[in-house]
Amino acid sequence: MKMSDSRRVNREKETVLKMITLYCYDHHTVGDSPLCEDCQSLAEYAFQRIERCPYGIQKPTCAKCPIHCYRADEREAIRKVMRYSGPRMILRHPRLAILHLVDSLRKLPTR
Ligand SMILES: [Zn+2]
Repeated sequence: MKMSDSRRVNREKETVLKMITLYCYDHHTVGDSPLCEDCQSLAEYAFQRIERCPYGIQKPTCAKCPIHCYRADEREAIRKVMRYSGPRMILRHPRLAILHLVDSLRKLPTR
């Protein structure tokens, strides 16, 4: 794996974690823990999917991916998170939000 590949992967993970954290903070979280149990396992699941993505560095963002590698339950859960946190990311984490937007404009590699 090239340096830039792992940077891209790390950024995707950071973005998805921020989105889940934002959602959880406004919907479930109690006390000091940043994520409730459900969101913690959703985040772990999302990390796994990102690491195993067959498109790797060239992938567009998951919303545009033709593969849909998420299981039905997780897909529904992450979709809710994205719908809520997506627009809010621009305000709270503009750098990540803009990079995510740039990534979403990538074309899928033709093979
Ligand atoms: Zn939660």
